[in-house]
Amino acid sequence: MATKGTVNVQTENIFPLIKKFLYSDHEIFLRELVSNAIDATSKLKVLSAAGEAKGDLGDLKVEVILDKEAGTLTVKDKGIGMTEDEIVKYINQIAFSGAEEFVQKYEGKEGAEQIIGHFGLGFYSAFMVAKKVEIKTLSFKEGSQAVKWESDGTPEFEISDYEKSDRGTEIVLHISDDSKEFLEDGRIRGILDKYCKFLPVEIKFGTKTIKEDDPTGELDDEGKVKKVDVEVDDIINNTTPLWVKAPADLSDEEYKAFYRELYPMTFEDPLFHIHLNVDYPFNLTGVLYFPKLKENLEIQKNKIQLYSNQVFITDSVEEIVPEFLTLLHGVIDSPDIPLNVSRSYLQADGNVKKISSHITKKVADKLNSMFKDDRADFESKWDNLKVFVEYGMLTDDKFFLKAEKFTLVKNSKAEYATLDEYQEKIKATQTDKDGKLVILYANNQEAHHQFITNAEERGYDVLIMDSPLTPHYISQLESKLENVTFARVDADTLDNLIKTDVEVPSKLSDEEKETLKPIFEGVVSKDKFTVQFANMSETEAPIVITQPEFMRRMQEQQRMGGGGGMNMFGSFPEMYNMVVNVNHPKVGAILSKEKDNKEKLAKQLTDLAMLSQGMLTGAALTEFIKRSVDLID
Ligand code: ADP
Repeated sequence: MATKGTVNVQTENIFPLIKKFLYSDHEIFLRELVSNAIDATSKLKVLSAAGEAKGDLGDLKVEVILDKEAGTLTVKDKGIGMTEDEIVKYINQIAFSGAEEFVQKYEGKEGAEQIIGHFGLGFYSAFMVAKKVEIKTLSFKEGSQAVKWESDGTPEFEISDYEKSDRGTEIVLHISDDSKEFLEDGRIRGILDKYCKFLPVEIKFGTKTIKEDDPTGELDDEGKVKKVDVEVDDIINNTTPLWVKAPADLSDEEYKAFYRELYPMTFEDPLFHIHLNVDYPFNLTGVLYFPKLKENLEIQKNKIQLYSNQVFITDSVEEIVPEFLTLLHGVIDSPDIPLNVSRSYLQADGNVKKISSHITKKVADKLNSMFKDDRADFESKWDNLKVFVEYGMLTDDKFFLKAEKFTLVKNSKAEYATLDEYQEKIKATQTDKDGKLVILYANNQEAHHQFITNAEERGYDVLIMDSPLTPHYISQLESKLENVTFARVDADTLDNLIKTDVEVPSKLSDEEKETLKPIFEGVVSKDKFTVQFANMSETEAPIVITQPEFMRRMQEQQRMGGGGGMNMFGSFPEMYNMVVNVNHPKVGAILSKEKDNKEKLAKQLTDLAMLSQGMLTGAALTEFIKRSVDLID
């Protein structure tokens, strides 16, 4: 006997709304139905363990069945099933009261599709792709009568008794004409692979052929047991993904293998991993991997996959973890992260905040223990790690406070030191006359070779800071560390970079300098170069081309898009200082030359300085080579 009725909802036109708004991604209906099937199966297991479900549970596989001819897609489980009363309660009333609330609140509002998941409309998402949905179900409860529920996408439904001998639920979707793509094997397989790959109960989608030893034991020509084709269930999921296992039971190899399972297109092994496992005050499991970071950070971002009870939710976790952690790879699984809600809602959620700071803390602790336990190993990984750590220090104050103790700097001799160690090391030699500690750095060991060598000859130490974040990172260190300033080795003469009380006398008089000035100004472009004189040592180069620290930093930050309001002044011009070493004998020698030769020598010395900076190109380089050849006796 069939009962007819209307689902408990006042709004008549709920289905068109569901269709339009439920999720922008229609494919999600399959995730919802398969996770319901898994839930029903898991509940049965729990009841059985508690002695409330009697007898042998049998095969509990969930099946996804495609029938192209009939135009149906079926999700079938052998879980707890539902009685007629339960259908009325869980499907008709609860689900629809949620839907009604939704319609009243959000009808016509923007972003409604992001909020609806809140109301537990999982099952009804079937109507995004189906013109008719049937539920055929038999409850696990002894003496239950099987029932069939069906609805064609209007608030009307029909419930009737049904013949069904096996326990569990079958959801049959009659796919609508505008959703025919969901009758394609490849499309369904793709969705299952995306959302259901790690669900905890086996999911069968069709069968596949594998080769097995011939059961009759017949031998082939080579005397080996013949292989025969065997048709077996195609199980699409791995029911015990690595993150649900106990870390103590896992080897390094298994972590690496799982990394390859997550990212089949990545060929490099990760540097190391962190296994997350929290059950209070929120639930969180997962494995985070540290990849070897490359120059281009953007392409490596956002690879963390978010799961809720092993159901894939999204691989865009920007709002859940702090920005710098999106450089990590791996999996986070938490039933406590609200799903399908708007981004801003997510950011304000208390659990999300706690999870986020927990992960930050775990990451910092892991790095700290690596640093403490095996400094040499930590140093060997540092070049690959530093961008991540610097990023974290730049964007997260809490992380900065922890990382300050283990973050390293590396000098031109490839010696590593913590910030404290380094300041201590150079204190005696690199404190200027005002008591400021001047840290010298180069961002390119090759290009700055001459400057580095000069500094080292003077007994100074030079750091190599070549990460894409260096300009921002040094500004941050300057503001956080007390009385420390950074100067790039090519920013000025050493005497100007680290000012001391010792005055180097000038070998030339003011008059002689006045004579030289126009000669040097005549050989370079006035818009780009400012000629200066410096009393350097005889052993240093006769001319040095420097680029003032401030100018260069502004240019760099502008290039990285971090120049703030600077763009309103237009872009920063390229400006250099041409520093003439008045104590170099070749500079003094210019004074005694004939007029033409004065210019020629000045030009030659200037070109040599340009050449050492890689700034001599084109016609200027050709001319220089020609002149140099002529100069050879
Ligand atoms: P949610 O899963 O978020 O509770 P749904 O709309 O997906 O919301 O499902 C509503 C209810 O219907 C579920 O809570 C469950 O009680 C019942 N249900 C749905 N699918 C099944 C199933 N395959 N087996 C047993 N019960 C089910």
